[in-house]
Amino acid sequence: MNLPHAHLPMFCDQCEQTAHNTGCTEIGVCGKDPDIESLQKILLYGVKGMAAYKAHARRLGKTDPEVEAFIEEALFATMTNVNFDMNGLLEMVLECGRMNLKTMQLLNDGHIEVMGRPSPTEVTEGIQEGPGILVTGHDLVDLKAILEQSAGKGVKIYTHGEMLPGHMYEGLRAHPHLAGHFGGAWQKQRGEFEAFGGPIVATTNCVLIPRHGNTYLDRLYTIRETGVPGARRVVNNDFGPVIEQALEIGPLRPTELHKTQTGHHYTRILEQAGEVVDAVKSGAVRRFFVIGAATARSRAATTTQTSPTTRRRTR
Ligand code: SF4
Repeated sequence: MNLPHAHLPMFCDQCEQTAHNTGCTEIGVCGKDPDIESLQKILLYGVKGMAAYKAHARRLGKTDPEVEAFIEEALFATMTNVNFDMNGLLEMVLECGRMNLKTMQLLNDGHIEVMGRPSPTEVTEGIQEGPGILVTGHDLVDLKAILEQSAGKGVKIYTHGEMLPGHMYEGLRAHPHLAGHFGGAWQKQRGEFEAFGGPIVATTNCVLIPRHGNTYLDRLYTIRETGVPGARRVVNNDFGPVIEQALEIGPLRPTELHKTQTGHHYTRILEQAGEVVDAVKSGAVRRFFVIGAATARSRAATTTQTSPTTRRRTR
């Protein structure tokens, strides 16, 4: 970390009482110590992440008053002069984890109800003949709307990056113009968006600010929470302008194609639990990998050796 305060036990500039009008660094003017500040920040990061999942779930018709109340109370607890109790904040951080799991279950249930049953499937990677639209981010409701609004118009729809799992839902695969997938992790998107050639819809994170001199800003669309200076906006969930631009641009430059797999949803694994247990007993399966978090840029952040036989990876 290159921040000037990196060596300091804390850095808090959250309120107008802050020391020297810059930041409290040893102990807060309010009395907050580094441990309390750290717990409050963990809580804030946790609630931010949960808000993203929660917003997706709400668009799928799934809400939970208990989760909503927790988000309000957790944010309130991080305000100045509200909560300096270590045990209370620690319990709130742990509760944040529990509420996050609950929120992810809501999202999972909403996806299955609205998008159809998930199942393993083979996906074509690369750009095919004809006009196309690239959909990035995580909002499958947007992907569904784009597929419905572009049906029969001669435009192929591609998922990008973290939207690859969208192909596992039978309701989305039912659209024959869900053509395939293009692109990898978010940090590669600038080059990939240049190469794609057609319109790109950034439904949620992870969208980057295009670099100066880029050629794709006039075909980059943002919606709701997303925003990039100079990009076009999708208003009222009307993807008509995106589809029109795809047709105006015309056929994209095809790339080499290859196949990849997705869709090994936990519900399908559970259906085969007996076979999995037998495979473990026979020694056919000897290792399990726990995959979580988002795509990280550094090698050190993506692989952590935890024991000779157990490895945790984040993608
Ligand atoms: S909340 Fe407390 S520690 Fe943070 S800036 Fe205000 S006075 Fe300083």
